[in-house]
Amino acid sequence: MKYFSTRNKDLNFNFKEIFLRGLAPDGGLFIPQKLKIYNNAELKELSNLKYSDLATEIVSHFCSPDLEKSKLKEIVEKAYKNFEVKDVVTIKTVGNINLLELYHGPTLAFKDIAMQVIGNIYNEFISKDKKTVNIIVATSGDTGSAAISALSGKENINVFVLHPHNKISNIQRKIMTTIGSSNVHNIAIKGSFDDCQKIVKDMFNENEFREKINMSGVNSINWARIICQIVYYFYAAFKFNNKKICFAVPTGNFGDIYAGYIAKKMGLGIDKLIVATNENDILQKVINTGEYKPSLVKPSLSPSMDIQVSSNFERLLFDIVNKDHKRVSLLMNDLSSKGFFKLNNKEVDNIKKDFCAETINNKETLSIIQETDKKSNFTIDPHTATAVGAAKKMDNISNTVVLGTAHPYKFLETVKMATGKEVKPPIQVAKIKNKKEKYDILEKDITKIKKYILEKVL
Ligand SMILES: *Cc1c(COP(=O)(O)O)cnc(C)c1O
Repeated sequence: MKYFSTRNKDLNFNFKEIFLRGLAPDGGLFIPQKLKIYNNAELKELSNLKYSDLATEIVSHFCSPDLEKSKLKEIVEKAYKNFEVKDVVTIKTVGNINLLELYHGPTLAFKDIAMQVIGNIYNEFISKDKKTVNIIVATSGDTGSAAISALSGKENINVFVLHPHNKISNIQRKIMTTIGSSNVHNIAIKGSFDDCQKIVKDMFNENEFREKINMSGVNSINWARIICQIVYYFYAAFKFNNKKICFAVPTGNFGDIYAGYIAKKMGLGIDKLIVATNENDILQKVINTGEYKPSLVKPSLSPSMDIQVSSNFERLLFDIVNKDHKRVSLLMNDLSSKGFFKLNNKEVDNIKKDFCAETINNKETLSIIQETDKKSNFTIDPHTATAVGAAKKMDNISNTVVLGTAHPYKFLETVKMATGKEVKPPIQVAKIKNKKEKYDILEKDITKIKKYILEKVL
């Protein structure tokens, strides 16, 4: 498969290049030039596969010819061996909700599903090159832990994870900082997730620095994340026998829900994709009004969605302006020069064909966790709660699948606030409580952070 940039259709990259680069050289995001579209007979065949085989089938289209299918199969099987449920994910009925649990990986959030695969793809690409890669990641709490788990101890790889100081949950931080591997470096930045993400993007755009450290990234702008997430939309939809279903997705950087949109474009029968945001509601606003205007991040009870610059939205933008890369560049320029952009009515209508959006505030989040616990004796985390809340505001709940993105233990303080109950630690993290944490605290100053990184790698 060949790729170009949302800001320039004349570029031409293969999978290995976009995997290692992360961000297109013009600051845009990589997208495929053409998608594989499944017909009904092919879909029927896919529906008989177990999860890891389904993943191999779907993901292989995107990686060919740089990764052979047989190699990819090995990679995927190895990645999913250490998940706590047999088929990687599970679907449960909780009251009247269809819940797709995506949090049975080693760090208890859906990000493991893509990251474990990505870790092994790095192995494959790097072992051939023998050059140390330095992976720099910004995290709102869950990407960092998933990346560390997937990459710690790997040869020829260093990982630097930037998280917003004091703005993630204690368990999120502990999972990242207790790993004790010499190739893992945790940095707490005095700022927000948006600050962390901007620093990483700016580093990518500094050619000299990027090349000097052989920099790579695994943030959700990395296309490989998206393709691994497409798989569970197929897996879940297949359980509903050809019924057109909706998905309600807790959304921050627009990566997970965009994967659902790609699944739909590949031929999967999906009705609406329901965007659930917390009070950082930029995506709800752009979908309902066309105005995309980041403001200051409000810390909420679902910190992994405390994001105002929703990077993957640029990928959808490309489609809704009818693949006019000049229009995308213009809008993105407006965003950096004026601080916002505004879509026209036709463009907003294009979004609404596939998406709808709801905002769920902190108070609602707590009452949804409480209600689910009371009525169904089932504990959900605050991110999942926003999606449950959004799904309930729509009138199609029996045909809606809610994505459960994190295990409630990761946010045990919030869950306790809502239910009064303790959450038992799942087996993956049973021992972290007494382990020693290691991280450094730095200002949100790119020069200082670059210096820190250089000292560690050179
Ligand atoms: C990252 C994350 C999200 C948001 O996912 P995006 O792909 O950034 O939209 C939602 N819930 C949890 C638990 C997360 O870790």
